[in-house]
Amino acid sequence: MATLDARLAPGFEFLRIAGGFRRIMKTELGQEQLCARCNEPWPMDPEFFKITGRSVGYECKACIQERKRK
Ligand SMILES: [Zn+2]
Repeated sequence: MATLDARLAPGFEFLRIAGGFRRIMKTELGQEQLCARCNEPWPMDPEFFKITGRSVGYECKACIQERKRK
């Protein structure tokens, strides 16, 4: 039974990016980020996250779409 803080995930680093905290893991395929909303790891790629300049969104695009629908 995991009793870790929900914000922590094994293997992920807690990094400060663009004024916010991101949970990022470096894999052999590149970096993955945990979505702040669905808590799933996704590649740090424009296909999955909104990336503008040096800033990366903290929610995956699927979650942003989901939120817009409501
Ligand atoms: Zn998400």
